[in-house]
Amino acid sequence: MTPRDATLKEIAVVGGGPAGLFAAEIIAQAFGVSARVTIYERMASVGRKFLLAGRGGLNLTHSEAFDLFLSRYGSAAPRLDAALRAFPPQALRQWCESLGEETFVGSSGRIFPKSFKTSPLLRAWLARLREQGVRFALRHEWRGFDGTKALVFDTPDGIQRIEADAVVLALGGASWPRLGSDGSWKALVEQGGVEVAPLLPANSGFTLAWSEHFLRSREGAPLKNLRLSCRDLSGAVHSSPGELTVTHQGLEGGGLYALGRFLRENLLANGEAWLRLDLCPDLDREEVERRIAARAVKQSLSTFLRKSLHLAPPAIGLINEASLQMGEKSATLAPAELAERIKDLPLRLTGMASIADAISTAGGIAFDEVDAFFMLRKLPGLFVAGEMLDWEAPTGGYLLQACFATGKRAGEGVVQWLGREGHGQ
Ligand SMILES: Cc1cc2nc3c(=O)[nH]c(=O)nc-3n(C[C@H](O)[C@H](O)[C@H](O)COP(=O)(O)OP(=O)(O)OC[C@H]3O[C@@H](n4cnc5c(N)ncnc54)[C@H](O)[C@@H]3O)c2cc1C
Repeated sequence: MTPRDATLKEIAVVGGGPAGLFAAEIIAQAFGVSARVTIYERMASVGRKFLLAGRGGLNLTHSEAFDLFLSRYGSAAPRLDAALRAFPPQALRQWCESLGEETFVGSSGRIFPKSFKTSPLLRAWLARLREQGVRFALRHEWRGFDGTKALVFDTPDGIQRIEADAVVLALGGASWPRLGSDGSWKALVEQGGVEVAPLLPANSGFTLAWSEHFLRSREGAPLKNLRLSCRDLSGAVHSSPGELTVTHQGLEGGGLYALGRFLRENLLANGEAWLRLDLCPDLDREEVERRIAARAVKQSLSTFLRKSLHLAPPAIGLINEASLQMGEKSATLAPAELAERIKDLPLRLTGMASIADAISTAGGIAFDEVDAFFMLRKLPGLFVAGEMLDWEAPTGGYLLQACFATGKRAGEGVVQWLGREGHGQ
């Protein structure tokens, strides 16, 4: 057991992603020199997934109206409401600016740092944390609790047991495990009797049985200017504009992310999910049918679809592929049937792509297990934050915003918990 300084509050933050780093900052700011805040991280450096997010430009948050913003978290919205209101997108922008990184609103309403990178922001943030006295224990892998509630870490110097007055677990989800977050915490937390919803891929691709012919010619092809739709389990239709890429396994791309949770629910309940594509969202169905009916007999179908409906070759290939799978040939379809295919092309999804390649994770610690400050009711003094909690959201900055907001809330929870009369020293 590492010896403790009895005059200091000892706070352990386990997991050095955005949620853990932010919780550490809040706690260090509040306690100053009267606490020792240590971030324990299994990797050799912190913030690896945060850095990876910077490769895509680092979409920090979104500028839309707060109620719409909150609705992106679906059924978890009421559970995140207080944390997000207390640390809304504007506050995240100000926080970035306090670290010398100005932000801007892109044309889609998404918010990015002007540098489009994580590294300068993370560098400035880590320097500030060190100034605040936060310590970093790297290559420390959390392995659970020993019988006395001490944290057990596997370190380069062997197993170490650490006692802390309060703990924040911010161990992330299970996507991109090579960056450190592999969801192995789930079994450890469940040993404490805490309910954890299964960790599943979110913002990920789906599998689909393409024909060999289609894959040979279309693997890697982009499908642009689409409107995607699907039904949820209650039968309600959800739709979203977007783009897709044909992959060896099926389909991938931002267009799927907004519908991902409904598609996943269908797959889990029924073993299949139907994605429907409008390949020509700028024209209504009647106009598409009218143009098809007016097609000159001598013009080939694909030339006509390209010239008159501005469909790109991959979209035309997809119509042929879907028709073949339905036992039809698109060239022999009547105008009304072909128009239907173009405006409402059904694709049968057979599964989800691997969580290892997903952008984020659905599932996690059930909200019923935590109080308003994300403290585990069954393990008082132990707080959780970030993707570990049972929420999901599409891409658009919603992921990082919720990680920061829950990190702040958990950090404030620690401050309140240790500030209680008679607690600490
Ligand atoms: C390719 C990609 C692009 C993305 N782009 C964006 C984007 O533009 N905008 C956006 O909002 N979100 C984006 N995200 C998602 C965002 O990066 C995550 O939601 C966010 O990093 C989660 O933060 P977190 O602190 O909860 O967990 P993480 O960032 O996963 O951090 C958890 C930390 O805990 C450590 N850890 C795990 N287990 C242990 C253990 N047993 N012991 C010790 N340490 C452990 C891990 O090594 C890790 O450092 C992207 C994700 C990916 C994969």
